[in-house]
Amino acid sequence: MTQQQSTPLPSSAGTAYTIRTGRLIDPETGSAKTDQFVSVKDGRIVEVGSSAPHLEGAEMIDLSNFSVLPGLVDAHDHLAITYKKFPENNYFYYTYVQDSTAIRAIQAVSNGLQILSSGFTVERDCGNCGLYADTALRVAIEQGWIPGPTIINSGIIIGGMGGQFNPTPEMVKQHDIVYPEYLDADTPDEIVKAVRQNVLFGAKFIKIMVDSQPYPYTVDDMRLFVKEAANAGGLKVAGHVQTEEGARRAIEAGIWSIEHDIALIEHDNAHTDELHKLMAQKGIWRVGTETPLTDYGVSFYGGVSQAEFDRRVKGLKSAYANGVKMAFSTDADYYVPGMTRGEVVINFLKSWKASGIPAKEILKIMTVNGYKVSDIYDKRGPIKPGFPADIIAVKGNPLEEIDALRTVVFVMKDGLVFKRDGVMTPEKFLHSGPVNGWSIR
Ligand SMILES: [Zn+2]
Repeated sequence: MTQQQSTPLPSSAGTAYTIRTGRLIDPETGSAKTDQFVSVKDGRIVEVGSSAPHLEGAEMIDLSNFSVLPGLVDAHDHLAITYKKFPENNYFYYTYVQDSTAIRAIQAVSNGLQILSSGFTVERDCGNCGLYADTALRVAIEQGWIPGPTIINSGIIIGGMGGQFNPTPEMVKQHDIVYPEYLDADTPDEIVKAVRQNVLFGAKFIKIMVDSQPYPYTVDDMRLFVKEAANAGGLKVAGHVQTEEGARRAIEAGIWSIEHDIALIEHDNAHTDELHKLMAQKGIWRVGTETPLTDYGVSFYGGVSQAEFDRRVKGLKSAYANGVKMAFSTDADYYVPGMTRGEVVINFLKSWKASGIPAKEILKIMTVNGYKVSDIYDKRGPIKPGFPADIIAVKGNPLEEIDALRTVVFVMKDGLVFKRDGVMTPEKFLHSGPVNGWSIR
């Protein structure tokens, strides 16, 4: 146990729980044990076993009718943006004009609560957060002001001039309106500086637009990103990739992850297997954001067609067959009336189920792989002594039927109960000051 792992979480200091589990699931091995107890003290797991140790003042939580497991991970979303049918016609370009960083930070808090309620205790936040609303969200949760998932955030997305957009000359010259959504970096000096700016303002990884403009990053450009991110605290580089050429360059450069499956399933999956084999060889993460086929429109592309969905599912099958490291990821940054953000996110199970990947593998992808792609596996996630107590419970057995994850009845985050009997109970998380300290790192 490291020093950090034995330190109580101040917001949870003095609390103790003994959780009685019906079925305690280990997603790593895809197995379960019955009638286990998980003991939690000062925010951390102290013991897991078939008998409960005596913990002074511990409250017993009876989850004997449920499956108990570690929290889920959405490895690609943007909590500080919510684009909508009205007024921006689901075109996120206009959301940046409409919503200030301040209102987006508040949206991020709400979205964080909603996905935590659906069992997501970790979220990898991939930019498009105005002027660092993502850092504000992470810090607010870490300092103990509000409940929320653990946030692994990228800061501002770095790209060649123009980012992901086709801005007007006025926007580029005056650097306003769609900036600061994207940080321009076109030369080696600018690349180093952009990485450093994000690190300075609280990024936990670096996100780049590899090929959104007709002047994609070269292999050397991306190697420089990887080198400078590593220099700045060992951060990893995630690449938004949308062309096959971009994917080949990103793989050659050895970036940490390819975000989105678009580039991998181009041309009716003609090169999908080949690209996946290369990714598997190099150990590059596939963060595919496989949008499900639904009856609601989900993007400014106007939703997903049956043909597109079929190509995605084929892509998932190929990635699995070729042993690519995969993460559950959504890019679900839009408003669907009548659904919480958590419900929109968990609905991505539809794509995974369609791929035929076994439930226990999907569960491992949504937990263990999520901690790994977020680069926190040695600090948080698994239910084991010394780790922060991030624990959920669901009806049914997700090892056999993955849709069991849609009914999350209990959520514990950092050793505090956030949801009990299917109802959110956030009071214990709310404080009038930074109970966990003031650091932004
Ligand atoms: Zn995204």
